[in-house]
Amino acid sequence: MARAGGSQHHGPLPCVDKMSRQPLRVLISGASVAGPTAAYWLCRRGFAVTVVERMPLARVRTSGHAVDLFGPAMDVADWIGVLPAVMDARTRTEIVSFQRQDGRGIEVEMRRLVAGISGRHVEVMRGELAAILYEATRSDAQYMFEDSIQTIFEEPEGIAVTFEHAPADRFDLVIGADGLHSIVRRLVFGPEDQFRRFLGGYLAGAALPNYLGLEGRMVVWNAPGRLAAIYPVHQTTMARGGFLFRRSEELALDHRDVEGQKQALHRIYGEDGWQVPRLLAEMDAADDFYFDSISQIVMDSWVKGRVTLVGDAGYSPGPAVGGGTSVAMVGAYVLAQELAEAGSDYQAGLRAYEDRVRELAAKARSIGPTTMSTLIPRTGIQIRLIPEVLRLVTRLPPNLQQRLFQLQATPARALGSIHLTAPAEK
Ligand SMILES: Cc1cc2nc3c(=O)[nH]c(=O)nc-3n(C[C@H](O)[C@H](O)[C@H](O)COP(=O)(O)OP(=O)(O)OC[C@H]3O[C@@H](n4cnc5c(N)ncnc54)[C@H](O)[C@@H]3O)c2cc1C
Repeated sequence: MARAGGSQHHGPLPCVDKMSRQPLRVLISGASVAGPTAAYWLCRRGFAVTVVERMPLARVRTSGHAVDLFGPAMDVADWIGVLPAVMDARTRTEIVSFQRQDGRGIEVEMRRLVAGISGRHVEVMRGELAAILYEATRSDAQYMFEDSIQTIFEEPEGIAVTFEHAPADRFDLVIGADGLHSIVRRLVFGPEDQFRRFLGGYLAGAALPNYLGLEGRMVVWNAPGRLAAIYPVHQTTMARGGFLFRRSEELALDHRDVEGQKQALHRIYGEDGWQVPRLLAEMDAADDFYFDSISQIVMDSWVKGRVTLVGDAGYSPGPAVGGGTSVAMVGAYVLAQELAEAGSDYQAGLRAYEDRVRELAAKARSIGPTTMSTLIPRTGIQIRLIPEVLRLVTRLPPNLQQRLFQLQATPARALGSIHLTAPAEK
């Protein structure tokens, strides 16, 4: 276990325990997007925050894929003061080039396409975003890397937590910001199966050398029901490769069975051409190989006693299909804001958080199935038509484009359902 950060707390009015007058102690599991965002705002309001993250810090920085911040999530980044750093780290992918079976490519301008969806947007690697948020919080929150919660017991006066490595401790609140396979959810709310909704597909990915010399361009190859893609990682010699494929039934695979997952990819893509054989070989060799079902988390309530969930852990709209990063960042901001407003009445704060985020969570979830249809076309005709339609859309005047997208279920539209108030003092 590696520890980092300190626990000096500043802020206008410390949120203190009624009896002891000590700052309320909050444990956050997960240091990706939702975790450090919540940590930032809770520290600002005088909570004593500890963040536990399973991965080493170096791995957090480099792990993950390109993700998007839209509208209100851009505001949250701005209020934290990290927006310039996020903009600087943006992926700079300008073109998506769809490879056709005849070898020709159809190019779609990303900037123009996304401008139609949202006036305010940035694409950034998830690891870079996590690293920026960590830097913004490391001197106020205490971070414990390479560790995990092992057990959680709620007692009348607090929550007793044991860790895999660190000594047992007691907290006033526990926040699960630990993603789709959240341990906090499993320990407190029950097995994952009852909350996971399979959307009919899988995704896999890994880092690989940028052997195609791509710059500002993602290349996408499709066959009915499956795709492969490669995009460069800005200012590095690396790229990310990925596979997305449809499956009406779930594969009988555990999400930790890495060998079984790699074999499944070979079964599904083994006969394919283009760069697929090279991509498969890269996946086989990768030490950051990622494979998961495209699933959502659907819960009636993500608050129980002194424990709550935020971001993917509580209401994932599905990886790559529903704007989960923006939803996580906005959810974390609302959680911290409501807890701070409620002071020592944490139950009122948690209830208010859940109420405010409920509509956003439901709207973001409703996008997944539509996005899947565009992202992974089922037929040869769709494969030919979808890039043509997207290209056509980018050529429409911006106001017409925006009106068209207002009719569609998009992450930006889902995020429009929540109104954030700026922090009292920045
Ligand atoms: C391949 C892929 C592509 C995606 N593309 C997009 C996209 O284009 N746009 C978009 O907006 N979103 C995208 N997403 C979704 C996006 O990554 C998530 O919605 C977002 O990262 C959610 O943030 P989070 O902080 O809630 O959870 P996560 O980012 O999942 O972070 C959870 C953190 O908890 C840690 N953790 C897990 N278990 C434990 C444990 N037991 N103890 C301690 N720590 C633990 C993890 O290591 C991780 O750091 C994509 C996801 C995937 C997988």
